[in-house]
Amino acid sequence: MLDDAGLQALREAARFSPDNLPLRRHLADQLLTKGYLAEAEAEYRAALMLAPQDPGITTGLAEAFTRQSSYGAALSILEPHLAAPGYPPRMGVIAASALLGEGDMAGAGYRYHEAVSRDPSAADPDLAARLAAPPVVTPPQPVVAPPDLPHDTSAEVERSRFTFADVAGMDAVKEALRIKLLLPLQQPELFAAFGKRAGGGVLLYGPPGAGKTHLARAAAGELGAAFVNVGLADILDMYIGSSERNLRAVFEMARRNRPCVLFFDEVDALAARRSDMRQAHTRQLVNQFLAELDGVDESANEGVLVLAATNAPWYVDVAFRRPGRFDQLVFVPPPDAAARAAILRLLCRDKPLAEMDYDAVARITDQFTGADLKGLVDRAVEAKLQQSISAGRPIPLSTPDLLAVARQVKPTAVREWLATARNYVMHANESGAWDELMPWIKGAR
Ligand code: ADP
Repeated sequence: MLDDAGLQALREAARFSPDNLPLRRHLADQLLTKGYLAEAEAEYRAALMLAPQDPGITTGLAEAFTRQSSYGAALSILEPHLAAPGYPPRMGVIAASALLGEGDMAGAGYRYHEAVSRDPSAADPDLAARLAAPPVVTPPQPVVAPPDLPHDTSAEVERSRFTFADVAGMDAVKEALRIKLLLPLQQPELFAAFGKRAGGGVLLYGPPGAGKTHLARAAAGELGAAFVNVGLADILDMYIGSSERNLRAVFEMARRNRPCVLFFDEVDALAARRSDMRQAHTRQLVNQFLAELDGVDESANEGVLVLAATNAPWYVDVAFRRPGRFDQLVFVPPPDAAARAAILRLLCRDKPLAEMDYDAVARITDQFTGADLKGLVDRAVEAKLQQSISAGRPIPLSTPDLLAVARQVKPTAVREWLATARNYVMHANESGAWDELMPWIKGAR
């Protein structure tokens, strides 16, 4: 495997020859092998712009997504390829891994065996073992956080049971959302007096798992508004014209259910820079999205609050940032120690607990996101359940349980994301768009 100096040389070479496809692809593969997932993702995306249908690059990008737990994103780029017979077996194995991540054991098993029967060298023993393992027993207690919704083919209207009280820390982000989204609807006279109209959207960006979706859902609950969560798979369709229809349908659904928070996850895939788009029909989708955001007339989107989230804001076309569209960028940072303690407290409420010292756990979980902490608590609870079953009585969860799990896991998503962000925005902040991010990436390498 390449050492770090070799990797750095490859990065430099790719920077000088951005259109050299084999080079970019090689760099992406090396980054993936070395576990620089966010950076590998960025490189595969760039390579895909040069060769949009390439199955090998698509498979690489899907693997980068899957290893960052973005299973829906992985599946939505694989699906058009998987629909045709004879797709590369390695692609089938990655699809199986993403399906397993989404909890579709049967679909994962089918894909895996189909792929390996065609090419035994594509086998992945770890994945095979996970496919054969009995399903994990989850404790029968109230769920604190919403389950990650499977990506349906069509979005649905939800009523959120979460409010900002369920979002730990993030005071600055909540305040920004309050001013932008909630106050104009709650106090329209005040805003009218200053000549401000409600409307326009907010683009939340930050590392995966930092809580962007959770925040959007909580904003809907805070406002008593309906919530429509739109994933990529709800929109993207392999047939030309269908994606535009799907997009129109979700906007119409939101308008019928106003007040409504319409939330687009992974929006960079829908709103990528038009200059990056090689295919006319993808450009058409971007234009359609812009037209829906603007509305046919002034009142078309009244009471519809559009929120979007992205891990890769630098891919979003600047046209989306004009007034009335996603005119506010809000950085959702990884939680600091106080926020981590608050998230842990939230995640553990409703569980049988001993005396807890959340600050101690927060101190050793630097760089953990909200999602990582949720994973940590889930693992500790599972272990406790096993112990309780053996002991024949409930044993409450304690601080050492959380500390033990925290010492075993080393999340890398935040570090990698900040390094990627640094590459993109360090030299491109003339407009001040990335000011909020600067203090975070100064120290990143
Ligand atoms: P993102 O959309 O940024 O990838 P999510 O919103 O899906 O991240 O976060 C994953 C999970 O982490 C959420 O379902 C929630 O349980 C938990 N979480 C993240 N941030 C917070 C927070 N500030 N307070 C409470 N829970 C959080």
